[in-house]
Amino acid sequence: MVADLHLHTSFSDGTYSPEELVLHARAQGLGALALTDHDTVEGCERAAAASRSAGLEFVPGTELTAEHQGEEIHILGYFIDTRHPPFLVQVARFQEVRQNRIREMVARINELDVPLNPEDVFRLANCRAPGRPHVARALVASGHCGSLDEAFERFLKKGRPAWVPKFKISAAEAIHLIHDAGGAAVLAHPGLNRVDHFIPLMVECGLDGLECLHTKHSPAVAEHYLGLARRLKLVITGGSDCHGHSKGRPLIGTVRLPYANVELLKARASRYPARRSVPAGPFSPGR
Ligand code: AMP
Ligand code: ZN
Ligand code: FE
Ligand code: FE
Repeated sequence: MVADLHLHTSFSDGTYSPEELVLHARAQGLGALALTDHDTVEGCERAAAASRSAGLEFVPGTELTAEHQGEEIHILGYFIDTRHPPFLVQVARFQEVRQNRIREMVARINELDVPLNPEDVFRLANCRAPGRPHVARALVASGHCGSLDEAFERFLKKGRPAWVPKFKISAAEAIHLIHDAGGAAVLAHPGLNRVDHFIPLMVECGLDGLECLHTKHSPAVAEHYLGLARRLKLVITGGSDCHGHSKGRPLIGTVRLPYANVELLKARASRYPARRSVPAGPFSPGR
């Protein structure tokens, strides 16, 4: 049995609904899948229900935007309690700044005499965690750009006029948030970031795993991180980072993680029971 532990839906910048994602997972012969939308867990309940019907194991997850010394990194959270109140508070903060960022990007595009309404982007995104791909899609849908690539090249790439930096938390904050919500924290696609020197420090902060297998890791890069994970006693994970059909051919199932690793990850997450906040009583501070 194999798993794909890095998947996106239309609740962030993917194109599949949770139900479509699960159908594709089954068609790919996966036994387990994790949903890891950016800065949200909105799609998890539907994906869990669809997985139950399809007889697949579902791992509730997320991919949090974090940083180290200005470098954007992504921290995956697995087996989290997707209803954990403090986690949802933080996720709501992420979503609010993402929505404000969309307004800022659109305002900059408007300054270049390209009429675009932020509401058009929100309608098209139809999710709480919109990002640059949604602005790009709106620019294409409104006829202002011929392709998503053109939208990024003209407006949205770093250094282009509508590029707005993204809100990020520190890696330590991301790890603690995930642990508090009962999950295991995994550094996503380390081969795409230059943070190898920082991984031991993240381990001290409680990092549980390393995404050694990823679509964009060459066999040599994967081998490098497999060695590092073994040395640092991190759980080895992997996933395709499938965004549906928004970025070329669907990738789901192209990375196949042995199920034994899912069990190791689950065992790791069981170290962190979701911390239940004490209900406010008559004697709690501030009342
Ligand atoms: P954001 O998180 O809002 O900054 O958007 C990042 C997303 O935009 C990632 O999923 C990238 O893959 C995607 N992206 C970045 N550059 C391009 C590009 N040139 N064409 C299409 N998508 C891109
Ligand atoms: Zn994405
Ligand atoms: Fe990522
Ligand atoms: Fe991703």
